[in-house]
Formats: sequence, structure tokens, C-alpha cells
Amino acid sequence: MTQDARTAFLELDLPGLEAWCGARGMPRFAARQLAEWVYAKGTIDLGTMTNLSKAHRDLLAHEMRFLQGDELRDLEATDGTRKLLLGWPAPGVTLPVLGVATGRETECVMIPSEERRTACVSSQMGCPVGCRFCASGLEGVEGNLTAGRIVEQVWRLARKPGVGRVTNVVFMGMGEPLANASAVMDAIRTLNAPWGLGISARKITISTVGLPTAIRKLCDFELPVTLALSLHAPNDELRRRIIPWAEYSTVPELLDACQEWFRKTGREITLEYILLGGFNDRREHAEELSRVARTIRANVNLIRYNEVDGLPFARPGDDDVLVFQRVLREAGVNTHIRASRRGRDIKAACGQLRHEALRAGG
Ligand code: SF4
Repeated sequence: MTQDARTAFLELDLPGLEAWCGARGMPRFAARQLAEWVYAKGTIDLGTMTNLSKAHRDLLAHEMRFLQGDELRDLEATDGTRKLLLGWPAPGVTLPVLGVATGRETECVMIPSEERRTACVSSQMGCPVGCRFCASGLEGVEGNLTAGRIVEQVWRLARKPGVGRVTNVVFMGMGEPLANASAVMDAIRTLNAPWGLGISARKITISTVGLPTAIRKLCDFELPVTLALSLHAPNDELRRRIIPWAEYSTVPELLDACQEWFRKTGREITLEYILLGGFNDRREHAEELSRVARTIRANVNLIRYNEVDGLPFARPGDDDVLVFQRVLREAGVNTHIRASRRGRDIKAACGQLRHEALRAGG
């Protein structure tokens, strides 16, 4: 493994790219041209960048790397869902050693529907939260992803056949995005920028397990992103049994932070609630959840659990899910059931591919 001194393109914003070009005797407008090739046209092939001089293309070939990761797996489900397992080099090395799982792997998923192309991305390598039902937290966390590595996931997914433009991005892959907030916000700036991928900020969703201080800080973020709170249980007692970080903040504290979010941004919050068969899917849980949701005028997304090998939770019955939804709706809460069966044949539950790679030793 060798040291890589090249600049990582996707880590730069436009002013950074202009400064980089300027420092190498390239004209300022070359930065915009480069950004257009990479983000708008989706190419990193210097040979096609014919509006740049040959001398500048040679310089770029030596001093710039466009991608940092390596595609270890690329799986497509029968329903069109596509999942990539990416490997990230350790600091100071070029590429991961092929075939050896190191924990520096992350997953990202493209979920196509008639009107949307949603990229589900990771913010960390693994996850420090360790929710009891989730494969992502099983091996802990290996580190944060940089902004460029977050952007790279969307860029790679957009290039897959039939995808074209990504319309939505959700931070619902591996990791707790607000535990890596600075990189996540920088990535969102690039995803949203007219010179970047041009994705509407409102169609970018940060999904957090709930860090009240970080939610309050996010209220001041200049871009109007959407916030989702992974509640998964309507009270502290039940929540602490499945989310270790629930020890650090109570449901009322989270609701306070959410109310501040709504007051300051005017944007509604979505509560994510993963239905675990026989655990949090009873009528009384739905009634309690409806009271919580009404307090903060939240919508609720119900997610049917996808089983993970080795974890003790079951998928809920279809009837139980419908009753749960009906109770919420009758209480006046806007509730949707997310189509979590999508991609089941490629292990779409977050973290499953990485977990398998690590268990198999690569
Ligand atoms: S559900 Fe989210 S927060 Fe919990 S362990 Fe998985 S990735 Fe981390």
C-alpha cells in the first residue's frame, strides 16, 4: 500500500477547486468546467474533457483523484433496488486490499420508484450506536466518512444503468449522521449546489437516532433539509432495550429539541418507527406513539423489520402492521408504511453485506 498525495476531487467545494486550479496555473473557469464534467455529466474520464487543454488534463491525471473508494460488491434486486458495498482506504493509502474485509466498508443503496430515485447513504464506517436490531452496529464503528466519500456514494449510484438523476438522498445507511455532522453538512452542500449534483435540500433527509444538542445545532444549518427521528419505541423503557444511546436522552428531551426544530425551521419532522414483531407493534404502543407524534405534529413512517441473521427480532405480521397504522391514523397522525420488502433478495437491511463480509473474513 502506497501513500497517495493526490487531491481528492470530491472533498473540494467550488471555491476550493478554483483555488486548487489557480495554484497550478489553470484558469479559474477550469474549476467550473471540471465540476460540470464530474457532477452534471457524470464522467471522470479525462480523455472526454476536451474543453480542458492537454497540459491541464495531464496535470490532473497526476495530481487529482476523482474517486477514493473501491466497489467490492454491486448487487441488483429483482425489484430494481441496487446495493453497493464500498471499501475505503485507511488514511495515507490509495485503495483497500481487494478481498480482505477490514471494517472500512460501507453500504449504499439506490431505491428507484416511478417518480423518485432515492440514494440511501452511509455517514460512518459501521455505527457507534449499536441498535439491537441492526446489522450496522454489530461490529462497532471504524471511523467517520469524509464529505467526499459521502458524495461519492451518490455519484456512484447515479452512474448505474437506468438511474440517471438522483432525486432524493436519505442518510439512513450505516452510522449516526449527527455524530459526523460537519462532514455530513459539507456533503449536503455539494449534493445541493448548482455546480454539484443539484439535489433539492428538502429532498435530502437526515435520519438521526436522536441527539438533542445536535438537533438544535442543525436548526441553524443554512439549507432546508428534512429531519427524521428514529424513535422506534414510544417510551424510554422500551427504547432503552433496543437503542443503547437512548440512555443519554429521554423521549421528552428529544421532543423538546424537535419542537425547537419546528419552531425555528417551520419544517415538520418525520418519526421513523421500525416495527419489531411482538416487541413494539401492539395496539398500546400505537396509542402511545400517536400521543408522542401529536405533541410535535410529526408524520410517522412505519418500517416493517427485515430479519437479520443472528439477531433475535422478527418481522411483524401484516395484520398487526395494518392495525398499528389504523390506530395512528384514527388519532389524526399522518402515517405511511414504508415498502421495506424492497431489495430483500440482496439483503437490503442496513449493514448486512458488511457484516457478512467481516464474518467471512473478507
Ligand atoms: S439503526 Fe441506525 S443508529 Fe442504530 S445501529 Fe443501525 S445504523 Fe446505527
